[in-house]
Amino acid sequence: MSGVYTESLNKLIEEFGKLPGVGPKTAQRLSFYILKARPAEAMALADAIKDVKNKIKRCEICYNYSEKQICEICSDERRDKTIICVVEQPKDVIALEKTGTCKWVYHVLGGHIAPLEGIEPSDLTIDKLVERVRAGEVKEVIMATNPNMAGDGTALYISSLLRPTGVKITRLARGLATGSTIEYASGKMLTDAIIGRQQLQ
Ligand SMILES: [Zn+2]
Repeated sequence: MSGVYTESLNKLIEEFGKLPGVGPKTAQRLSFYILKARPAEAMALADAIKDVKNKIKRCEICYNYSEKQICEICSDERRDKTIICVVEQPKDVIALEKTGTCKWVYHVLGGHIAPLEGIEPSDLTIDKLVERVRAGEVKEVIMATNPNMAGDGTALYISSLLRPTGVKITRLARGLATGSTIEYASGKMLTDAIIGRQQLQ
């Protein structure tokens, strides 16, 4: 197939084909769409891609995505800084925020502990979380890692590190189906899980 198209079109099809969930046919369709699009429209897509790569960094406090050193949530005066909700990924923050029930701040781990995949605790922002809790102000840490084996294991590991600080440690309630993820849970389910959160022993 590659001989049929020009070099630059082949390149575009190849790049689209690397995106998750995009097969060869979709990659081809998207590429032809871009080729036919008005220049301004195609460039707007190119610029948007450049911007997310150039402008978005990690918040220095919670490690969520942010265009500033400190993200919107961490710099929001109305947020309760004494409660930290610990999640695996930035998209989990979005899922939780959509429930409209969260008044706390977050800590984004950057994944879960998975020794078989080569992900050790030191690859995550766990030490930064412990520092935040040790700094004093924090009264509760809500473990909102995914309700699957890796998420549970990560929550237990972190709670063992935090226990000496005396902070209250809770876990989202089991309304969330075991093995599921925060990202795909419905708002109602998440809200129930937040309200019913239980202390980790
Ligand atoms: Zn932040």
